[in-house]
Parts: sequence; C-alpha cells; structure tokens
Amino acid sequence: MGWDEIKKARSRLSREEGAIIRDWGGRVPIALIYPNSYYIGMSCLGVHAIYRLLNSYGGVVCERVFWEREHQARRLSPLSLESQRPLSDFAVLAFSISYEVDYINVVEILKASGIPLYAADRDGGHPLVIAGGPCVTANPLPLSPFFDLLCIGEAEPIVPPMLPVLAEGIGGERGGLLGALASLPGIYAPQHHSGTPVVRQWAKDLDDFPVASTILTRDTELGGLYLVEVGRGCNWGCRFCLASSTFSPTRFRSMGSLIAQAEEGLKYRGRLGLVGPDVADHPQIEEIVVRLRQMGAGLSLSSLRVRPLSRIVLRELAKGEAQTIALAPEAGSPRLRRLIKKGISEDDILKAIDRVAEMGVKQLKLYFMIGLPSETDEDIEEIIRLVISGKSILDRKQSGTRIILKAAPFVPKAGTPLQWLPMAPLAVLNHRLSLVKNSLQPKGIKVKSESPAWSEVQAVFARGGADVAGALAALEEVSLSGWRKAVAKCQLDVDFYAHQRWPTGQRLPWVIIDSGTKKGHLELELNRALSG
Ligand code: SF4
Repeated sequence: MGWDEIKKARSRLSREEGAIIRDWGGRVPIALIYPNSYYIGMSCLGVHAIYRLLNSYGGVVCERVFWEREHQARRLSPLSLESQRPLSDFAVLAFSISYEVDYINVVEILKASGIPLYAADRDGGHPLVIAGGPCVTANPLPLSPFFDLLCIGEAEPIVPPMLPVLAEGIGGERGGLLGALASLPGIYAPQHHSGTPVVRQWAKDLDDFPVASTILTRDTELGGLYLVEVGRGCNWGCRFCLASSTFSPTRFRSMGSLIAQAEEGLKYRGRLGLVGPDVADHPQIEEIVVRLRQMGAGLSLSSLRVRPLSRIVLRELAKGEAQTIALAPEAGSPRLRRLIKKGISEDDILKAIDRVAEMGVKQLKLYFMIGLPSETDEDIEEIIRLVISGKSILDRKQSGTRIILKAAPFVPKAGTPLQWLPMAPLAVLNHRLSLVKNSLQPKGIKVKSESPAWSEVQAVFARGGADVAGALAALEEVSLSGWRKAVAKCQLDVDFYAHQRWPTGQRLPWVIIDSGTKKGHLELELNRALSG
C-alpha cells in the first residue's frame, strides 16, 4: 500500500463536498469501481447515482475506487478513496462500466488487486464481483467468465431486492448465495444461469430516484457544473444507438423534480448541466430552461437535436453562457441519414447552424460517423460539403463560432437494428478520415477523430462472445500491440466479431438477454435501413 496513494486520496477528499464517510462496523462494505480515472469517472452521473443509492441503505458502506495511469504503469493495486482500503477488504466489488474499452481496465484492476480473475477460481473468502452499465446490459458475454453477477438494466430496480440477500449470505457458502441472487430480476449469474433470458430492468418513474451530482469536486471534466439527469432513453430510435436501445422506454423527470434538484444544485454551483440522451425533447423543456434562468442558473445541455431546435432553448442557453453547442448530423448524405433513421434533412442541419450563429457561442461541435454500412467516398464528400456550408453560415453572420468536427467510426452495437452489420475495414476508415481531415483542416475546421484501431477493439467487445475473455485475460501490456499479441495467442477471430456481416438467423452471443425489443422488430428496422 503506497503512502503516496493514501496522501493523494486524502487530498482529493479534502477538495470534495458530499463524500460519504461511514464506519464499517456491521455494514456490508461495497467498493464502487469506475474502471477509468477520477477525472473522467466523477463526471459520470451513473457513479453519483449508484453511490447515493447504495449509501442510502443503513447496512451498507459504499466507497469509490478509480483506475489511474500510475496504477496501470506500475501495476499498483488501487485503494478506495474514502478509507484508503485495498479491494480485498471489501465484501463486494461493484464495477460501473460506461465504455467497452474499459473492459481492459476491469481485468487490470482485478489482476493488480490480487483477486482471482475468473469467477470459478473465487470462493466465499473473496469479494463478490458484480458489474453493470449500458454495454454490459447490451452484451455481458465478454466479461461473463470474470464476474459472479452482471446487472442487466438500471440499478434502481435491481439493487433493492439484491441487498437483503447479499447482507444475509455474503460471508457464507458462495454457491448458495449466487443461486439466490441469480433468481432476482435483472441478474445474470453466468455460473448459475438457468437458460431463461434475463429481462432488462428499468425504473418506471424516474421521480422516485433523483439523480444529480452527489459529490462536488473541481478535479473532474465537468467540475464547474452541478449535473442533473433530465431523462433516459430517446424517442428518435436511430438504428445504431445504444443509448436508445438500452435505456428504452423514454422517460423524463417531472419539471417539479428537476426544479427541486436545480435549487439544491445552485447552492454549490452557478451552472447546471442538464444530462440525458434526449434532453431537448422533454415536453416542458422551454419552461424548464426559462425557469432555471430566472433562478439565476448558467446552463449547459449534454445534447441538442438538430430538429426540433427550439429558439427559446437556444436563447436561454446563450443567456446562460453556454460556451459550446453540440449537434449530431451523424452522416453527410441524405441516403446514409435515412439508413440510420436520423430523421433530419440538410436544410434542418443548416437552419440549426444558422440559429447557433445567432447565439454567438464560441464552439459548435458537429458529430459524424465514418464507415457506416454501404458508405462510399462520395458520402464522405457530402460530409465535407455540408460542414463547409455550415462554416459559410457562421462566417457570413460573423458569429465568431469555431467548428470542431468529431468523427467516430461506426461500431455495431448489440441490441440495435444494425447489430448484424459489420464495421468497415481499418484501411477504409483511415482513408476516409484522411479525406475529412485533409479537406477541412486547411479551411480552419478542427477535426478530432477516434482511433479506428481502438474502435475495432470496441467492436470486438460490443459483439463478442465469452471467448473474448480469454484474450482480455492474456493481455500483458495495455496497448494495441499488446492486444494483438493476446488475440494471436488466443486465436480470437477479430474479423468475425468486428468486420463480418452476420445472417439474421445466426445465434447471437447475447441471446441470453431479453432487452424488451423483439428480434422481429430489429430485423424489420434492419431491412428498412438496407432498402433505403
Ligand atoms: S437522437 Fe441521439 S440519443 Fe436519440 S436515438 Fe438518435 S443518436 Fe440516440
């Protein structure tokens, strides 16, 4: 245990407001592990929500754990933030996983902590190892050999029935405890799975579970904001979208609940971050932003739809000193926007940019995907042309707004209508990203892109089966070359998982999950996508 790490944890705690420090006596100690850095994890509302939820039970003490670069570099065992204890001291390790690529860190954390990696090698003397998160909900298979339990759906309906069973059985015989937990809703226990698909769970009424910043710190990406979750799910149903499929149905918090949370948040921060995949579609969004501005709040929205883009919302955002507006056309050509069911025209996009120009924000982020199914170089030319048209509008209006184009490779996700389609080959992606960069950067448009090679790793985890775990376990160095060596050693078929089109009749690795969406509906949407 490093004294440096203890000092660092205490120093972080001293800069926080809202951390919950509890005595361990008689309580079930749960480590809530975010498998990435404190800087990233503390801007993830899911971490705040689960921390608050678990610590709301008198019989639980929940402490946070993060995975920093220095842990990685020196294979250091991470300590909990609140009491600086190692993971082996906890009864339960609960991983909250936001992104597939963090699966690598999950394995590194277990290895560095000296806890047997495979669930089959652990017994009642070891912590119970659990995970949840959107990618785990969609397809838990790549992690399944490592975990005792995987949570399918949202924490709020899953955790309450789980805790009494845990509290009663945690020190006893492991098989009996797992058997009891496996019978609860939303629990996938790989070693005790009956074969019946696990039904995804979701909170019926979000007002029952307020989700907002629980701990305030400046040491995080969104540290200047008090974050409030506005809703979950999205009505637009874009065919590639994991947020839409894993958080359906669309639910919004009531205006009353949001205003109450905002009042609380304004005690700590002058600016509020309204979070959700579809914030702008809240039925009372205009009233909400006007009210929040009247309360003196600065505002930031995590997402805005190109259409409808309310002038009132934009005006209040501008008055609330929003610095950046993000819009996601996703594709440049009408044909590809139809394929993904984006539901917006070029006219909608240019009108939205025109409205943003009137606001005078500093930055406009435009999100696009590269390598969508059936994409050609001509579709990329359409992205370039569209963005140049957008820039002309901003220049003409002398708004001073800078465009940043963010390009990410299309990665097929489990549970979406495009789950059967392949990711484009890396050479094609690299070529098309070069086209975008070479055309737009000389015109003063910044282009940021996700790495195609790491996106391929993401694709393997997104559509992978349990055999992917072997490559994760074999990883000796966290790098692309380390991953490729592990893949070669385990003879993992990366091409199959990332780059092949699968027939719709093929058995999918995640068939053990009942997402709530019928296969027939996904197939229908796929056929609609491909028929233009
Ligand atoms: S609008 Fe955004 S959040 Fe909604 S389905 Fe489309 S991509 Fe997903």
